[in-house]
Amino acid sequence: FSSARITKSVIETQSKHKDKGTLKRVSKLEQDRLVRRKNQAAAKAEKTELIRKNQNNPHWELTNMIRQFRRQIEFKPLSSQDTIEDHLITVAVRKRPLNAIEISKKEIDIITVPSKNQIIVHEPKHKVDLTKYLENHMYRFDYTLNETSSNQMVYKYTAQPLIKTVFNGGFATCFAYGQTGSGKTYTMSGNLHSDSDKGIYALTASDMFKSAKSAKYRHKFIISCSFFEIYVKKVFDLLNNKAALKILEDELQQVHVVGLTEKIVTSEDEVLNLVLQGNKERASGQTSANSQSSRSHAIFQFYIRNQLNPNSVYGKFSLIDLAGNERGADTFSFSKTTRLEGSEINQSLLSLKECIRALGRKDAHLPFRGSKLTQVLRDSFVGNNSKTCMIAMISPGVGSCENTLNTLRYADRVKELGDGNSIQK
Ligand code: ADP
Ligand code: MG
Repeated sequence: FSSARITKSVIETQSKHKDKGTLKRVSKLEQDRLVRRKNQAAAKAEKTELIRKNQNNPHWELTNMIRQFRRQIEFKPLSSQDTIEDHLITVAVRKRPLNAIEISKKEIDIITVPSKNQIIVHEPKHKVDLTKYLENHMYRFDYTLNETSSNQMVYKYTAQPLIKTVFNGGFATCFAYGQTGSGKTYTMSGNLHSDSDKGIYALTASDMFKSAKSAKYRHKFIISCSFFEIYVKKVFDLLNNKAALKILEDELQQVHVVGLTEKIVTSEDEVLNLVLQGNKERASGQTSANSQSSRSHAIFQFYIRNQLNPNSVYGKFSLIDLAGNERGADTFSFSKTTRLEGSEINQSLLSLKECIRALGRKDAHLPFRGSKLTQVLRDSFVGNNSKTCMIAMISPGVGSCENTLNTLRYADRVKELGDGNSIQK
């Protein structure tokens, strides 16, 4: 047999068996193949789209992991109905929203505030084989405020409860702590471009006058204010052309800022004008925006004095916009000034922490001579009627992760031995 004949006979045999059942099966297989091809094409398109999207988001894996984490928790943020606790030392953390620059840089938000007193930092990490994962750091404070909270809300749980301390003849302090750009000035001075989100200076002033004018205290007290800044061991009067002032300690360990301007005030507007004037002084003579002001501590004080005894201070409220805490890193800088500023800020923030802790322990020994800042605030860390609150400000972006963790660690330490209601992680 030739090969041509064999082929012919095979074909003949096949066609004999081509019954209807086989035909059906074949067309079904063909259909399946079509569907499969279509699905494959769709999956490929989806993958291409994902890659295209992810090219726009360098942190897409991180974004997904954080999204998944958040899906699993039930959010119960601080609400204005929550109780205000009475503490000797109150520590609150405030997260600001991502700003336009961060959004344009495609920064992602790595902070989750699940409840009224917890905060989580999702730190991006990778294993040795380069697989990415999150290290979630959980901290607990007296209050945690998420990016939607207003200055009013922050005030309600931090400075406002201390108004009565001042009218009871006590010394109160409120610190804004955090890295430059985290929202310290926004929280203290408010939104300077509009009236919508008044800051803690204005809100405190409003309540001070409300109390002073109440039936209980009517005509009893005189309220006055001062505003000064501390920059590398020097004190400058922000209500008097930045005049350099001396600090003196008398034989009773009372610390005086000699020649500090003190203005009597009778309304919130008058206080706001002083804040405006002082902030302008603070910013003047600077080479770049935010340079020197972020490296100095700004101290705004309210004094109340009894009309019958105006020579002694009855109560005092100090509101402090601290220098940016990221400066510690500058101790390694090549510029001598920057190095000096950095170590000075570091030192003053360390002293501050020690003084607050000493207040919490009711310690007889107060290490207030550790810095100018703690020296001028000495009377606020002693006595039976001194109370303090600290608002630790944090930036939400992944680029601020290290600074944020440093801020939270510091805030955690401030309160560690503070009130007996120590913080757990
Ligand atoms: P700091 O004083 O800590 O250096 P700022 O208060 O100047 O930081 O804030 C940096 C920027 O972020 C400012 O433009 C400010 O208006 C904005 N900002 C800060 N906190 C908030 C907030 N809670 N809501 C909206 N914008 C904020
Ligand atoms: Mg500032």
